[in-house]
Amino acid sequence: MAIHEKALIEDERLQQHDELVVDGVDVSGHWNTMIAPRTVRDYDDDFEAKIQSFAGGEYVHRCWQCGSCTNSCTMYAQNVQFNPRYWIYLTRLGMKEELVKDQDIIWQCVSCNKCTNICPKDVKPEGVMKALAHWMEVEGITEKSPSTIFDEEFADQIYKTGRIEDGKVAQNFFKKTGQPLLQEWLKVFIFRMMKHLPVKHLMRMGINTVHTPRTKSWGKTGDVLKNYVREQKEAAHG
Ligand code: SF4
Ligand code: SF4
Repeated sequence: MAIHEKALIEDERLQQHDELVVDGVDVSGHWNTMIAPRTVRDYDDDFEAKIQSFAGGEYVHRCWQCGSCTNSCTMYAQNVQFNPRYWIYLTRLGMKEELVKDQDIIWQCVSCNKCTNICPKDVKPEGVMKALAHWMEVEGITEKSPSTIFDEEFADQIYKTGRIEDGKVAQNFFKKTGQPLLQEWLKVFIFRMMKHLPVKHLMRMGINTVHTPRTKSWGKTGDVLKNYVREQKEAAHG
C-alpha cells in the first residue's frame, strides 16, 4: 500500500526496491516500501503543556490523529507540507526540533477554520496553529509578525500615556514594519473622516498625532500595569 505523507520521512529512512518478487508475487515499486526505525531522543516532556498555555492551544491533548483537519485544510490543498495533524502529533510528543523545521510554513494558516469545524474531538486545530506560530515568535525562532508589532505598539502607548491615539499607533506601526506612512487606504479613510467630523475634533486629532497627550494623573499607573501584564505572562508561559 502506498505510504501517505511520505514527504514527512527523511529520504535515507525510506527503503524501496524498484523490482522485487516475493513468493512469486510482484511487489515492485512502492508495494515493498519499508521505513527504517528511528529512535526518538530529542523530545521535551513539557512542550505540550507549553503550547496549551498559549491562546488556541488549550485542547491539543484531545487529538486522536484521525487526520480530518489535514484532509479539509485549505493550505494543505495548496501544499502537502502544510499538515496540522502532523504538527499536532509532534506537539504531543514534544518534538520541538521537528516542528522548527517547518517554521517557514506553520504561520501560513489562513484561519478558515475548516479544520476546527470538522474536528471530532474539538481540538480547535486552527488555534493550535496560531499557538505554535506564537510560540516560535516568543522563542525568537521566527521574526515578530505584524500583528505582534501592532499589539506591542498599542500596549506601549497605554503603559506610557494611559490612552490610545489611533494616528500615533498607525504611524509607529508603519514605521516599525517598514511600510510607507501614507497608505492609499489611509488617504481615503482620512478624506471620508474629514467630510463628517467637526473641524475642532480633526485639529485635535492632528495635534495628538504629533504630540501624544497623557491621561491626567496617570503617574506610576503605567508601570504597575506593565508589571501586572508581565507577571501574567510569566504565570502562563513560565
Ligand atoms: S481533526 Fe481533530 S482529532 Fe482529528 S487529527 Fe485533526 S486535531 Fe486531531
Ligand atoms: S484554519 Fe488553518 S489549519 Fe485550519 S483548515 Fe484553515 S488553513 Fe488549515
